[in-house]
Amino acid sequence: MNDDRGLASPRRRQPSRRFEITTGSAEPWWTEADDAELDLLAYELVRGYFEHKPRCASCAAGDPPCPHLRRAIEAVTEWREARELRSRAEYLRAGLDRVEGAA
Ligand SMILES: [Zn+2]
Repeated sequence: MNDDRGLASPRRRQPSRRFEITTGSAEPWWTEADDAELDLLAYELVRGYFEHKPRCASCAAGDPPCPHLRRAIEAVTEWREARELRSRAEYLRAGLDRVEGAA
């Protein structure tokens, strides 16, 4: 992605329909690395669920998420929120550093 502020970087996410569908973040600070890490966490969450399900009466019955599953889901969503904040701060700092460096 290129813009007129000179903030583009090779590690920044390129427009991709796949990532827009899977992550829900189209913000310029969300990187391909962020996507890859979120993909891994989602994969591990699903894998963990299928390991957990046969051993949990609640999950095996199709009930709403049990406390264990709910905590795993919350951990992924909390990571996602924190990463958004961190990536946004890094993106903005990089732009500020460029502006200050050019002055
Ligand atoms: Zn369960």
